[in-house]
Formats: sequence, C-alpha cells, structure tokens
Amino acid sequence: MKNICVLGSTGSIGTQTLDVVAKHPDELRCVALAVRRSVDTALAQAKAFGVRHVAVADESLAEDATVAELAQWCRDGGGDLRFGSRAVEELCLLPEVDVVVNALVGAAGLRASYTTLEQGKVLALANKESLVVGGDLIMPMAHALNARRGDNGALMPIDSEHGAIYQCLLGEDMAEVTKLWVTASGGPFRGRTRDQLRDITPAQALAHPTWNMGAKISIDSSTLMNKGLEVIEAHHLFSMPYDKIEVVVQPQSAIHSMVEFSDGSVKAHLGTTDMRIPIQFALSYPKRWEAPVQPLDFRTLGTLEFAAPDEDTFRCLALAREAGRIGGTLPCVMNAANEIAVAAFLADDLPYLGIAACVEDAMEALGSHPVESLDQLSATDAEARARALEFVARQA
Ligand code: MG
Repeated sequence: MKNICVLGSTGSIGTQTLDVVAKHPDELRCVALAVRRSVDTALAQAKAFGVRHVAVADESLAEDATVAELAQWCRDGGGDLRFGSRAVEELCLLPEVDVVVNALVGAAGLRASYTTLEQGKVLALANKESLVVGGDLIMPMAHALNARRGDNGALMPIDSEHGAIYQCLLGEDMAEVTKLWVTASGGPFRGRTRDQLRDITPAQALAHPTWNMGAKISIDSSTLMNKGLEVIEAHHLFSMPYDKIEVVVQPQSAIHSMVEFSDGSVKAHLGTTDMRIPIQFALSYPKRWEAPVQPLDFRTLGTLEFAAPDEDTFRCLALAREAGRIGGTLPCVMNAANEIAVAAFLADDLPYLGIAACVEDAMEALGSHPVESLDQLSATDAEARARALEFVARQA
C-alpha cells in the first residue's frame, strides 16, 4: 500500500489521479489533498477518499464560511485544514505520506518538489516547472535518493512524453541512447501561418484536438511552449544534451515518445490518449497494474502521421530551446514571462502572438546566471514577472 498526497487535486491531473486511486484501493490510499481555492470539490474528495489532511493555497478563504464543514471533517479524523502556500508544502512533510503527486500549476510547484525529495519521498511529477525552473537543484536530489533506494523510482514523471521515454529506457544502457524523440500533437493551429494566428481568441486556443487538459497547459500546447518546456524537462530527467532531443509532430497523439539507440533501433511507447495511463505507471512502478482505460485498438487507429514542427510560426518552442541551451536562470525567466503572458492572453489583455514576444522580451532583458538556490530562483521569477507585466501594459 502506498500513501499518496495529491497537490492540485481538483485539476485535470489531480482528479484523474484520484480516479486511479479509486480503481486500485488495495494499492493506493490518498491521505492528503491540496487545492488552490476549490473548497467544495476538496470537501467532496476528502469525504469520498477519507482524507483528513487538506491545504488550501488561497489564504483569503481562511475566514470564509464555506470552509467550516471541511475544517470540521478534518478535525473529526485527527487531521487539519490549513491555508497558504506553506501549508501546501507542509503536506509533503506528513510522516504517513510515501508519494507526493505534484500537479500544481506553474513555478509555485518547485518548492513542494524540493521538500518532497528532501524528505526522501517519491515525487510523482506533473508540475513541469519544477524541472524547467529548478532542474539544476532537483535532479541531484533525485539521483541521491535513487542511489539510496537502489532503483530509478525517486522521481516519476507524470507527463505522457516523459512517462513514455522513461518506459522505453527501462533495462537500457544510457550510453547507448543516441536520441530522444519527443512527440507533439501540434496543437489546434498546426499548419497555420503567423498571419492566420494574429486574431486567435482564448476559446479557439483552449480547444485541444487530442488531449483534455487545464487552461494554462492547453494554451501552452497551442503555442508549442508546452513542447519547449517538455524538451527542457527531458534534458534534466534523462541527462540528455539538447542536440540529442528532437521534437516531432505526431497529430494522432498515439505515439507518446520514442528513443533511438546506437544500433539504429527505435523504441516507441504507444497507448490510448488518456493521462490515467502515465499517472498509474508513475504510481505502480516498478509493477504494472490492470489498465485504467480501454487499451488502443490498432485495427481502428488508422494512419500515423509525422512532421517537423514549425518553429518559425510557433516561436515559443525555439525560445524554450534557446533558454534550455543557455541554461542557468534563463529557463526560469522564460517560464515566468510565459505564465504572465498566457494569463494576459486569457484575460484578453495580450494578442496571441504577443505571448512569444513577451517571453522573448523578458529573456533578452534579464539574461542568465548560474542557479544557486530556491530563493535566487524566486527572486528571478518575480523579476521576470514584473518585466512581463510591463510588456503587457505597453500593448494595451
Ligand atoms: Mg505532455
């Protein structure tokens, strides 16, 4: 039995994680939940899964009448309800937690990832920013914990691409890996020109063709920034230089990524486009449990297409690659500016093509410095957000 803590339990990854828990009650027990502000859903989840430790990130809700029932429920079971981002992080310290599923959105997830590994607990990671921003700090901790555990299970990726690469690498010698192929659906605007992207609205960008996801990641998928973040993630997770990480558009999203070896062999991971498969693998490793969804039926799959990504039109991918190659604090700057730009686009304060322009402006202005600490990254993150907000204000 593994006791898990789900950070971001009401989001897309969080609810699908709880689906997996419900399907495997003999293997998994949810003991702690964190939400940003969805208190009603948190209460329903806490009751359904018997969870008595809950954190709500938004401190302004502490005085709200709607939280009284949740607080009582937690107290009745010997736990508690706490507020603020520190309270979210502190769930990772609970002695009964074995695995932390980090499905927080944005750079806010980094501290929780750090605390989890520092505590010697398994990190099941859906929060890309933990690695994009803090990979230089997180990975040495994961390697040390793997050495202590005697396996490769300290940091389990919950991203279809990285879960796929992880599985293709099982039993392989990293010295014989020549390339990682990270697949991309291409998003809803694949094949369009920059001119055709000028007037894109948030509603159009939110309609992803193959994956059902939250708002931030859906916009990132449409700009290909999501793929850029994933390239940086892959670099850190698999210790792979950037010139050996290639992106290929695979519009059906049936191939979740591939690994090429020195003898020219390529292994691919395929499966139904449903995040419960990579979530479950991250929690079942080193075992495999019964499938959480219907497996692929190749007789009805039809064709598989492949194409090179268009980095001139979708400049966020090129910007992320550049940030990754230069490294240091530049991916932190890039990510923070993108978070501001995406929020501004969703609020109709920035045109669609302004997202890449805003990211580039912040990268040029702030440059890169070697990564030293979480506090330094927080300061860089704040600086980049301020710069991006100025950029957005100039567009109005
Ligand atoms: Mg992905």
